[in-house]
Amino acid sequence: MKTGLQYIDSLRDRKMEVYYLGERIEDPVEHLSFRPHIQAAAATYDMAFHPDWEDLGSAVSCLTGERINRFTHIHQSAGDLVKKVKALRALGCYTGTCFQRCVGWDALNALYITTYDMDQKKGTSYHPRLVEFLRYVQREDLMCDGAMTDPKGDRSLPPHKQADPDLYLRIVERRADGIVVRGAKAHQTGAVNSHEVIAMPTTAMGPNDADWSVSFAIPADAPGVTHIFGRQTNDTRRLENTADCGNYRFGIVGGEALIVFDDVFIPWERVFMCGEHEFAGPLVETFASFHRQNYGGCKAGVADVMVGAAAVTAEYQGTASASHVRDKLTEMMQMAETLYCGSIACSAEGTQTPSGAYFVNPLLANSTKLNVTRFMYEISRLAQDIAGGFIATLPSEKDLRHPTVGKYVKKYFAGVAGIPVEDRFRMARLLENMSCGAAMVEAMHGAGSPQAQKIMIYRQGNLESKKKAAKRLAGIDDESKDTPQVR
Ligand code: SF4
Ligand code: FE
Repeated sequence: MKTGLQYIDSLRDRKMEVYYLGERIEDPVEHLSFRPHIQAAAATYDMAFHPDWEDLGSAVSCLTGERINRFTHIHQSAGDLVKKVKALRALGCYTGTCFQRCVGWDALNALYITTYDMDQKKGTSYHPRLVEFLRYVQREDLMCDGAMTDPKGDRSLPPHKQADPDLYLRIVERRADGIVVRGAKAHQTGAVNSHEVIAMPTTAMGPNDADWSVSFAIPADAPGVTHIFGRQTNDTRRLENTADCGNYRFGIVGGEALIVFDDVFIPWERVFMCGEHEFAGPLVETFASFHRQNYGGCKAGVADVMVGAAAVTAEYQGTASASHVRDKLTEMMQMAETLYCGSIACSAEGTQTPSGAYFVNPLLANSTKLNVTRFMYEISRLAQDIAGGFIATLPSEKDLRHPTVGKYVKKYFAGVAGIPVEDRFRMARLLENMSCGAAMVEAMHGAGSPQAQKIMIYRQGNLESKKKAAKRLAGIDDESKDTPQVR
């Protein structure tokens, strides 16, 4: 297993094509816009060595019997699914942000299950290929980007009807030694600091979309792969490397990029789906459920930090003992624990699939994620309520240290006597960073937008059995008519 520092070192000297703010970035590892979220990903590596966390951060490989980083593990029991959530919560609380590595982990598990089913039904041989790739990932302790979201162009049209067929990633050539793909994957969390990109289809596909039904793995610096790094709220503050960044060590969210595949060659041994359109939907649903399982873990950990930051800010400004502040902190904690309950429940209710790997309860996983799209906003609202308006109007750290105006900033932003004004500044920046902008949008749309969860909840909620229960109690259906009526 790699340590966090070994992971960071392993990202150097790659031939990555990375662009940001109109410039080619030669070395993302040392760039202040990339370094915080790389450090957050590194925490998933260090966790495996931490005396308090090694049981969560590592696992025994079902392929080799060796100890591996848990972020490369195939879940072997409901207990493994529960440990995943506990690991994510601990890391969310430690980093206060997205540590990115779960996406590739979920891709490996979803492909492990789906390739097995596909081979059984179609007589293909994708599962052994995936297992070989997994061995490599576990041996080298690699970080993978699970790349699902296509640009999608006109959302009312399927892939084959798009004006530009490349708006969904597709196969443009089938060769004796592999395939050639063209297209892009958008919003890719942690892509720039992943070793491998695992591409999957973005939605269910029909028979005319066979060329878009493709899954494969490719090194993030393979020829023809270009990463265009996205902007985030206040991202230029990172270049100053001051406390104005808020979470200066780990960043706001995971560092998202558009990955462009410009006629990229994929050898057959790394192709996990090639035209089996009827398995695109099941792969998407399996991956999405695994990723939605996570959010009551990582976001509850992030919420823990917001609760702490709001409580400390209240102490700094003398409002900590007010009953309404205690009430709001209690509500915030209750919502965080409710999210966590959902993730633990969908894990504890996990079941074994024919491949042997365990899968979460998808109805509970989707319900958990839908709660995240609401509760994280409410937790932020209460944190901002407790902190007060200064978290949005605070002058910069440079002003605080300025030879002329610094004394005024220190004087007029002081809170409770004896608390250094710098401490109040730092806590305000942390709250601003965590409760505004990108972090909230990530809670809404990461792991799929709310409507995607609603579709799966409606489909899996077994409405018919609920209608039947109501009819039985109302004495409408046949079954209830046979039952003696008690008055
Ligand atoms: Fe992992 Fe949460 Fe980031 Fe998704 S949002 S990659 S589950 S930390
Ligand atoms: Fe996410």
